[in-house]
Amino acid sequence: MISKQRTLVIIKPDGVQRSLIGEIIKRYERVGLKLIGIKMMVPEKKQVKGHYTLNPSWVRNVGEKAIESYKKKGEKPPSENPEEVGEKVLENLQGYMTSGPVIVMVWQGAHAVEVIRKITGGTEPRSSDVGTVRGDFVLDSYSMADTDNRAIRNIIHASGSDDEAEKEIEHWFTEGELTNYRLVQEQIMYDVNLDGILE
Ligand code: ADP
Ligand code: MG
Repeated sequence: MISKQRTLVIIKPDGVQRSLIGEIIKRYERVGLKLIGIKMMVPEKKQVKGHYTLNPSWVRNVGEKAIESYKKKGEKPPSENPEEVGEKVLENLQGYMTSGPVIVMVWQGAHAVEVIRKITGGTEPRSSDVGTVRGDFVLDSYSMADTDNRAIRNIIHASGSDDEAEKEIEHWFTEGELTNYRLVQEQIMYDVNLDGILE
């Protein structure tokens, strides 16, 4: 059922340090999505590596995305080899994601993956849209991250597809840590008839 779609969100260490936990949760909550799992932890490097390699083509994709972004701005990418760029990103991400506490969450609702990505914004805060979390609260860029040989600090991780979401949820949560419950507002969002409002 579409209204049961689930997605994984991580408020990364910079998001926690910027005191944005409440602001981020508010944005996902007010659109109508339901929080069904949440915990704070300091991840381990192997957990982070496992997360980003759940999809075997992620390393290559992330490299291609970075190279394309440089070219779009008329700038020269640090390397033309997507695998090389991707591997470096993975290494730097392990340092970034284990640098402090993160908040790991599962959100549920219609089009959860797509809607959360829309509210979160594009990977590079420099170019992500105004009105998105990454566009509104950070200004990091591919070039700043490359200059300092580190991962882009963009506050949030959000699953990129339904398939990615299911694998990531399993990676971070046991079924027992997720709570199935009904939100009263779901009747207004999902029921066919709006019976019972008028007395
Ligand atoms: P998203 O988080 O938007 O799904 P990706 O899955 O492509 O983006 O990349 C995962 C994370 O790796 C990004 O959120 C960002 O923190 C970091 N990252 C991606 N590409 C680069 C890059 N070229 N240089 C540094 N860090 C990067
Ligand atoms: Mg991703």
